[in-house]
Amino acid sequence: MKILVTGGAGYIGSHTCIELLASGHEVVIVDNLSNSSEESMSRVEKISGKKMAFIHADIRDEAALDAAFSQHKVDAVIHFAGLKAVGESTEFPLKYYDNNVSGSCVLMQVMDKHNVNTLVFSSSATVYGDPATVPITEDFPLTTTNPYGQSKLVVEQMCRETVIANDNLSVVLLRYFNPVGAHISGTIGEDPKGIPNNLMPFITQVAVGKREFLSVFGDDYDTVDGTGVRDYIHVVDLAKGHVQAIEKLHGQAGCHTFNLGTGQGYSVLEMVAAFSKACNKEVPYKIIERRAGDIGQCYADPAYAKSVLDWQAEKTLDDMVNDSWRWQSNNPDGYSS
Ligand code: NAD
Ligand code: UDP
Repeated sequence: MKILVTGGAGYIGSHTCIELLASGHEVVIVDNLSNSSEESMSRVEKISGKKMAFIHADIRDEAALDAAFSQHKVDAVIHFAGLKAVGESTEFPLKYYDNNVSGSCVLMQVMDKHNVNTLVFSSSATVYGDPATVPITEDFPLTTTNPYGQSKLVVEQMCRETVIANDNLSVVLLRYFNPVGAHISGTIGEDPKGIPNNLMPFITQVAVGKREFLSVFGDDYDTVDGTGVRDYIHVVDLAKGHVQAIEKLHGQAGCHTFNLGTGQGYSVLEMVAAFSKACNKEVPYKIIERRAGDIGQCYADPAYAKSVLDWQAEKTLDDMVNDSWRWQSNNPDGYSS
């Protein structure tokens, strides 16, 4: 298949492009490089030994998207392009609605115009809010506490409604849990701008000496050691989930929703211990107060993805921390190293 990948230069997009190319698909990337660089795409081509088409455009630019769909007769779209910083979204909510919601709306309109009827959308476990119980299944109530999460909920709803209105449309909503890790080559990985919000890039930056210590946000949750528990999933497993989704559900009209997680939760301190082993040094940390809006624990029931997509996460916690460390230690300043 020929697949248009929005946000394909980013962290999850770049890993997914490798898996798409490895499975024999052609890739056309549309990215405005607002949170990425062309370097990630050259490295993907180097790893794969294959070329991709790249269109430097914003998904809100209807004329540019129209031209991209006219030039490339694509079979399906995987839509990663979006802003993802929860804190920033509370400061600039309109920026998030504009980029994530308006952008998705323009994309779906242009897809419709060009009769492209398969869409895979990057949603998030954040749409479950603070779940009453764990593990989380796809039918749990949806709620969220910040504009980023709300932008995901609105796009999900937009997809469900558009599928009802268009009998030919197949939409796959993939709710990611906590993506970590990097390609085994150590040449592509997560490259956050500024101070990382997420746990794993913060730990790797402490380990490489760019930050003094990790602040652990609270140790009084009702969890194994009091620190927050999350379902960390290796980004390569996540990438493979997209290939399965597109191959199994291309042309299968309807809105299909899946959790992509491992089903296993780890606490912050368990992650610190695993990472210290990987980098062979202690990662210094200090316990501080809880972060506003954080929840105690969150992990997936991934059974539905296994039954329909024939997909399950294969990589271990050791793979996650070893691969994260390989990427960070080889590229202390990310793609600008
Ligand atoms: P990323 O920032 O590395 O990648 C997003 C890419 O989209 C970047 O290359 C950026 O330049 C591009 N982009 C953003 N807005 C655009 C626009 N208007 N037009 C064109 N390109 C645009 O982020 P990621 O971690 O790879 O996340 C990919 C998707 O997965 C996002 O939608 C994110 O919300 C979602 N997601 C991420 C996580 C996570 O923890 N990384 C968890 C759940 C869901
Ligand atoms: N966390 C932390 N220190 C940090 C970043 C995160 O203690 O600098 C904790 C956070 O409280 C949560 C877990 O690590 O329990 C994962 O946080 P992240 O922001 O990566 O993911 P999310 O909270 O969005 O699931």
